[in-house]
Amino acid sequence: MSAEEIRHDWTLDEVNALFALPFNDLLFRAQQVHREHFNPNEVQVSTLLSIKTGACPEDCKYCPQSARYDTGLEKERLMEVEKVLQRAKEAKQAGSTRFCMGAAWRNPKDRDMPYIIEMVQGVKDLGLETCMTLGMLTREQAMMLKDAGLDYYNHNLDTSPEYYGEIITTRTYQDRLDTLENVRAAGMNVCSGGIVGMGENANDRSGLLMQLANLPEQPESVPINMLVKVEGTPVDHLEDMEPFEFVRTIAVARIMMPKSYVRLSAGREEMNEQMQALCFLAGANSVFYGCKLLTTSNPDEDSDVQLFKKLGINTERGRDYSDEAHESVLRDAVAEKESEALFYDAS
Ligand code: SF4
Repeated sequence: MSAEEIRHDWTLDEVNALFALPFNDLLFRAQQVHREHFNPNEVQVSTLLSIKTGACPEDCKYCPQSARYDTGLEKERLMEVEKVLQRAKEAKQAGSTRFCMGAAWRNPKDRDMPYIIEMVQGVKDLGLETCMTLGMLTREQAMMLKDAGLDYYNHNLDTSPEYYGEIITTRTYQDRLDTLENVRAAGMNVCSGGIVGMGENANDRSGLLMQLANLPEQPESVPINMLVKVEGTPVDHLEDMEPFEFVRTIAVARIMMPKSYVRLSAGREEMNEQMQALCFLAGANSVFYGCKLLTTSNPDEDSDVQLFKKLGINTERGRDYSDEAHESVLRDAVAEKESEALFYDAS
């Protein structure tokens, strides 16, 4: 499939047919598509700093940061700009080229914007690429962030439109699509994906990928998260998802969005090395690196380094044409251990 053939008209039947392929056929096809657009032995590496933690008014059932669930998470107010910049400096010294900042908000308030803008400008002045995830954005806010120098914005669709109401009631699917449209209109790169294993059915997984692939412009980055069941959230009791179904989801995402970085995101700690290797074979080519992923744990750096070595995988610097939000590339960090101070410790 060449770049000209990127499709935005996927139907549910077509997506379901991909999922229904024999496993080996599906992986072979995904690997073919992957090799047309990416080096199959390179994985991008992302880091993420929580700049405001917990006490979120939204009711996303999977999220320990929602104020509605008692998960024992320690709340943190918006970090001071200087502290954020200090972390960014450390990230740069450790080899990062991009710095992502996440805040547990429904949306940024007007009073927050000057601080946020200062953070973006400060991080930019350090010579780093910038990315943020702050909740819903108006067109005006998106323009302000773009003008401040924000390169990437993350906002996930989470699941299919049909299943969405089972997971979130405090904002609509259309709200999410509107934010993505505002980010695009402002000229920023889009990072958007979802979470599987939340009790959705197969059609919902197809529906999520259909929504993402059929956007007017496919996201530069597509994080596929496996639900991390945090005690105290309404989904903490759900049965584990069939691992091969997760690998299939990665493969189908790769086929439908051939030029996007497909990120193996939350849930990687529960995956053994073999499972992660299958995900890379299916076309995943980005991971989070570091021991904390906002508030849930992530494999430590050493185990990633070892796994990459075993698989002959190199980390990759961002590409001009298809980069992603949430990402600071740590190419050198495969050889050298990352500074602990870079990661927010929510434990
Ligand atoms: S996912 Fe984001 S919006 Fe939803 S509760 Fe968590 S922090 Fe809030």
